[in-house]
Amino acid sequence: MSAERLVIVGGDAAAMTAASQARRGRSDLEVVALEKGRYVSYAACGIPYYVGGVVDRFEKLLIRSPEEFRQKQNIEARIRHEVLHIEPNRGRVIVRDLDAEREYEEAYDHLLIATGAKAVRPDLPGIDAQGVVGLTSLEDAKALRELLESGRPERAVIVGGGYIGLELAEAFHRRGIDVSIVGRAPELLRNIDPDMGALVSKALTEMGIHLYLGEAAAAFEQTSGRVSAVVTERRTLPADLVLVAAGVRPNTELAREAGLPLGLKDAIKVDDHMRTPVEHIWAAGDCVETVQLVTGGPYWISAATVASKQGRVAGANLTGGDASFAGTLGTTITKAGPIEIARTGLQETELSGGDTRFATATVNTITCARYYPTSEPMTVKLIGEVGSGRLLGGQIVGGVGAAMRINVVVTALHAGMTADLLAELDLAYAPPFSAVWDPILLAARELSAKL
Ligand SMILES: Cc1cc2nc3c(=O)[nH]c(=O)nc-3n(C[C@H](O)[C@H](O)[C@H](O)COP(=O)(O)OP(=O)(O)OC[C@H]3O[C@@H](n4cnc5c(N)ncnc54)[C@H](O)[C@@H]3O)c2cc1C
Repeated sequence: MSAERLVIVGGDAAAMTAASQARRGRSDLEVVALEKGRYVSYAACGIPYYVGGVVDRFEKLLIRSPEEFRQKQNIEARIRHEVLHIEPNRGRVIVRDLDAEREYEEAYDHLLIATGAKAVRPDLPGIDAQGVVGLTSLEDAKALRELLESGRPERAVIVGGGYIGLELAEAFHRRGIDVSIVGRAPELLRNIDPDMGALVSKALTEMGIHLYLGEAAAAFEQTSGRVSAVVTERRTLPADLVLVAAGVRPNTELAREAGLPLGLKDAIKVDDHMRTPVEHIWAAGDCVETVQLVTGGPYWISAATVASKQGRVAGANLTGGDASFAGTLGTTITKAGPIEIARTGLQETELSGGDTRFATATVNTITCARYYPTSEPMTVKLIGEVGSGRLLGGQIVGGVGAAMRINVVVTALHAGMTADLLAELDLAYAPPFSAVWDPILLAARELSAKL
């Protein structure tokens, strides 16, 4: 009798965490991961720092090679193998070996879909011009860095004011390139409120980055096939490099075609064990819908932390375990130049116009003791429910040392704490790290008075 086989579509965070966990759960299982790209188990989150030159060598973004998976864990990771179709009734996937240019069938006893997210590529005139690039894979990152080093662009325009746009603005700026960001929303970063986004805009403007917000890119002009400008509703911005970072969506065409139910933003529906409703098929990572822990409602996020946790849960359960993934708070953290940004839970723009009665408290404070030389401004915004006093969310924008404080708010949200209780926490203090009154305590105290 041949061994039972787990086939995984994808080869990154969710996929390879699941593969490793499944191996821990069952040494007799055949584990095969099919990855269409050239790499498995890589650090996509490190891409902006590689592009900017903070990370010197590309190889540092590679966490584990197919050879290492084979030797250390008896996991077979086939790169350049794209899954074209899933056939649930036959328990098979149809695969294309991209190098050998042949198709074959692979039978599975368990299938895990971990196809991640794909970039939104707006259908605008000129988008196929040379020098208009996207950034979702390591291959993209390598090509972009080569372009920066060989082409030496002087003016870059980034289309999209999300966190990837911001991180790449820092990367380009670090290389001495004149950077502009064009964003449709009135402020940068839609996953924080506009009042907090305005602080980020101010910091970027002070760095010398030009912001054109509240206006969408409409076309890309080209000269001899190379991009020469970005045309918005209001102006023409000369550019010799354009990065399109207009957001990502779940990559679920395969799942849709296989008849799997899709939910929010067409993400795959799974239960808390990462099971799809179709027998023997599991899914994890950026391709699945999850739960927003504060509302209990459906939610979607592209986050490496969430993908890895979900992969671990799927790998445990499909080898007979009983693990669960309850959901996410939508916690994110990033930086651009000197400014750090973090958020968790619900924000004012999500709550406005809804049934929840809420109040907000925003405090402008400092990262550490005022007299200490590294002290920098920071702003904390907390949101809570009027009546119950329950904390609903938080956002932080500030200098070095500001953003990781979001983890206190995250912990409070997980514990269902009130603002009152949060204000009483025995948080650490010494002058290099905080003011006597920690910024979170100050904001919680102010918020609790309004709830
Ligand atoms: C530039 C950048 C910066 C980021 N920074 C952060 C950060 O700081 N923090 C954070 O939490 N998250 C960050 N993310 C998001 C994070 O990388 C993703 O959430 C995470 O990689 C999701 O893991 P995944 O396994 O679900 O999907 P992916 O990492 O997208 O992996 C899916 C894999 O499936 C493969 N695949 C897709 N379809 C097929 C098919 N049909 N056949 C075979 N293979 C297929 C793809 O090639 C891909 O390798 C960043 C992402 C990018 C692009």
